[in-house]
Parts: sequence; C-alpha cells; structure tokens
Amino acid sequence: MEKVYDLVIVGGGITGSALLFAASRYTDIKSILLLEKYDRLATLNSSARSNSQTLHVGDVETNYSPEKALKVKEEATFLLNYTKKFVEDYEREKVIQECQKMVLGVGEEETELLAKTYESISAGYPGLKMIGRNELEALEPRTVKGRQKGEKVSALLSDMGYMLNFGNVAETFLKNALLSKGKKIDVKFNTPVTKVERGDDYYSVHTHDGVFKASFVAFEAGTYSLYFAKKLGYDRGLSILAIGGGYYFSKRLLKGKVYRVQHGGIPFAAIHADPDITNPNVIRYGPTVTLEVELEKGHPETVPDYLRTFNTDAKNIAAINRILMNEDIKRIIDNNMAYSLPVIGKHRFVDNEAKKIIPSIKYDDIWMDKSTGGIRPQIVDENKGTLVLGEAKLQKEGMIFNITPSPGASSCLGSALDDIAYISKYLDAKFDRQAFMTELG
Ligand SMILES: Cc1cc2nc3c(=O)[nH]c(=O)nc-3n(C[C@H](O)[C@H](O)[C@H](O)COP(=O)(O)OP(=O)(O)OC[C@H]3O[C@@H](n4cnc5c(N)ncnc54)[C@H](O)[C@@H]3O)c2cc1C
Repeated sequence: MEKVYDLVIVGGGITGSALLFAASRYTDIKSILLLEKYDRLATLNSSARSNSQTLHVGDVETNYSPEKALKVKEEATFLLNYTKKFVEDYEREKVIQECQKMVLGVGEEETELLAKTYESISAGYPGLKMIGRNELEALEPRTVKGRQKGEKVSALLSDMGYMLNFGNVAETFLKNALLSKGKKIDVKFNTPVTKVERGDDYYSVHTHDGVFKASFVAFEAGTYSLYFAKKLGYDRGLSILAIGGGYYFSKRLLKGKVYRVQHGGIPFAAIHADPDITNPNVIRYGPTVTLEVELEKGHPETVPDYLRTFNTDAKNIAAINRILMNEDIKRIIDNNMAYSLPVIGKHRFVDNEAKKIIPSIKYDDIWMDKSTGGIRPQIVDENKGTLVLGEAKLQKEGMIFNITPSPGASSCLGSALDDIAYISKYLDAKFDRQAFMTELG
C-alpha cells in the first residue's frame, strides 16, 4: 500500500524536530512523517559536540543591528518558554542550564563600541548591564588577571545567559510531538532521502526504504537543504560557502560564557569561551573559521554533495572571490586556517585568541578536539556577489528549504512558526497561532 502523508519533513536536527513538534501541536495537519538519514536525531550541527550551545538572544552579539537583536530575542524566547513548559524537571539539567554570560571589551575602542551597543539595545534588554574593571574582576577574575594596570577593560553583562544541549532539545520535541492525539506521526531513522519528484497531486519522496507520497515537503536538512533545492531546479543563483568551525578546550578556567566584541558585516562570531553543558569541568574556545569542501564535518564522502551545491560559473567564482577578498573576512580566514596546523597552530591560537579572553592562559593549558565542531552553511548570493547574513528560507510551491547557519538552533521555533503558517495555508489546514503565542510567546 502506498504511504501517503500530508507533510514529510526531511531532516531530524533541531529545525526539523521543532517543526514536527509545532505542526503536531498547533495545527490540524493529520499525518506527518519525519525522515532522518542517521540512526537518531541531531547528530550533525545540532549535536552538543558541534556548536557553542548558546541561546543567542542578541544582547552580546555586537555585530547584530538592534532590529536583528530583537528578532533573535523573540525567537529565542519561544525556545526558552518551551523548555519551561514542555521539558520535565528530571531532564532539565541535560537540556538547559543558566550560566553567566558577557561580552568583553578590551581597550578604549572596544569599550566605546560596547557603550554604543548598550545605548542602542538596552531598552529591549532591561537586565543588561555595562560593567567596569572592578566588577569584571569580581565576576570573572581570569579575564582581568595578568592585564596591564592601565589597560581598559569593560563588559556587557547579560541576565539571559543559557547553555543548551540542542540535541537533547530535539529529543524532547519528538517526545512531545508523539503525545498529540488523533494524528499519525511517524519517524524513520536510517532513511536518507535520495530524490524528490513532483507529481500531479503529490510529491514522491524516494528513500532506500520505499517511496513516500507527500502533499508538502519541508527540507529541514541543514547544509543539505540547498542541495535539494538545486536538484529540484530552484535557486541556481545561490551557493554555499562551507565554513568549518572547530574548538580548543581547557579545564574550567571561567565561570561563564565570555564573548568578544565583533564588528558589523562579518558573519562569523569572534572566538569566544563557553562552559560545556555536557562536561562541567571544561571550557571550549571557538568556533574557529576554516574553508571546507564537505557538507558534514569530518565526512569526506560528502565532498561530492558539496560540489553539487557549488556553481562553477564565472559569476559564482567572481562572487566568492569578492567575498574572500574582503579585508576583514580574509584576515579572519587566514588567521583561523593556521589554528589547525600542528604545534604552531596552537601557539597562534593562544596568542591571538585565548589570551584576549584569559591573559594568563598558557600553551599547555589548552588542547584541540578535532571531533568537535560543525559546518556553517553561509549562503552566497551570486547575483549580488555578497554573503546572505542569517538564515535562508525558500518557500516554493508546496516545499520549504531551510538553510540554517547560527543562530539557527536558538531560532528553531521562530523558523517553525513561519513554516507552519506557510504549510497550513498551502494545505488549507488550521493553525492555532494564538495557542502557539500563549504557550511559547
Ligand atoms: C561551530 C558552530 C557553532 C554554532 N553555535 C551555535 C550556538 O551557540 N547557538 C545557536 O543557536 N546556533 C549555533 N550554531 C548553529 C546551529 O548549530 C545550527 O543552526 C542548527 O543546529 C541547525 O539545525 P538543523 O536542524 O537545521 O541542521 P542539522 O543539525 O545539520 O540537521 C540536519 C539534519 O538533516 C539530516 N539530513 C541531511 N540530509 C538528509 C537526507 N538526505 N535525508 C534525511 N535526512 C537528512 C541530517 O542527518 C541532520 O540530522 C552553530 C553552528 C556551528 C557549525
């Protein structure tokens, strides 16, 4: 018998599982299937090993515009409220933990930039505080110890510091989706989607385990979503710049998250320091920025897939060249590529990055864990010759393609809200927006 679903979701990272939860709880869509390539949810970018585990709310990201900061805050608040309402007490510690969070300014120029940021966003973040050297020393002593007496240091101290294990959040999304009554919710692991074809009434979603028919297909496949969009003939004008991100580690030298000042227009966060929700004894430093040619970090078999998303025409090459020749981006990539080199890489990382956060840190204090980190799919707009900052969402004729660089995990329920509004309209289904906003807003 043919297996027919109203909605098929391709990809079980945090974005796909958030959509599964939202569609099953807040719409009357009757049948949903989630297809995941691997044997469990969230093994790629959403895994706690891959990302910085930060709930981005826009208050320490000095490269965001005030408008972007507030949008990120609204979407992250959905996730925060979700964890309060839908995560059971016994599992909370493994999903979310509060932690101190700040952005550090070193020197006159950065202190001035922090003051300006504070002025422009503090109305939206009433708990945010600008602090000077003495308070900083009391709260995060190692950021001050060893600095020259006259060196100016300051920080914006957040009251919304959280670390999340986004992979474990994804598990709770699935668990809560399966509680929905009167619906057919199916999940298939080890089932990579190989092809999707358009028919007259349905899409045919091909897997090694058979073909599934769907009225709507949502590609929530992270770095792979653009790959499928291109296969289906869409958005030939976009390409992915696969930016790898890796981490160095030290023992627990800091109390909380320490971000660094970042200037506008650069899509990669400056190296920051974060406690690890999976191991209270360590701090992770990163993510580094490397140019990669694979869609999954450490998986060379995904190189051909990457190359299929990459247009080799003159326009794309010119666009990428222009992006990589941007002085700030070039400097960041040149520095960061060196951080992966044996011996010298660690020396450079300590001098250029780690010492900016902890001046007294030493070479022997840190180590690199190559099994951590992920791939940030930065979208290149070939026509404009620029990077598309933030997430890219394509909504086309019964399909959605979500490509989700940072802060995609924090914004997963904001993305799901957009998606269920679009999908419900397309399927002529009911979407209870009020219930969504009451429970999560
Ligand atoms: C180094 C780094 C640091 C980051 N730090 C943060 C942070 O601190 N805070 C934050 O909010 N965000 C952060 N991000 C971004 C965040 O990790 C991503 O935006 C988010 O995890 C994307 O989730 P996703 O579900 O869209 O993609 P993924 O987690 O990549 O999931 C995609 C899923 O699709 C599946 N899939 C792919 N192809 C197929 C197929 N053919 N068939 C079936 N399934 C398929 C994959 O197996 C995978 O499970 C970071 C990212 C990186 C790389």
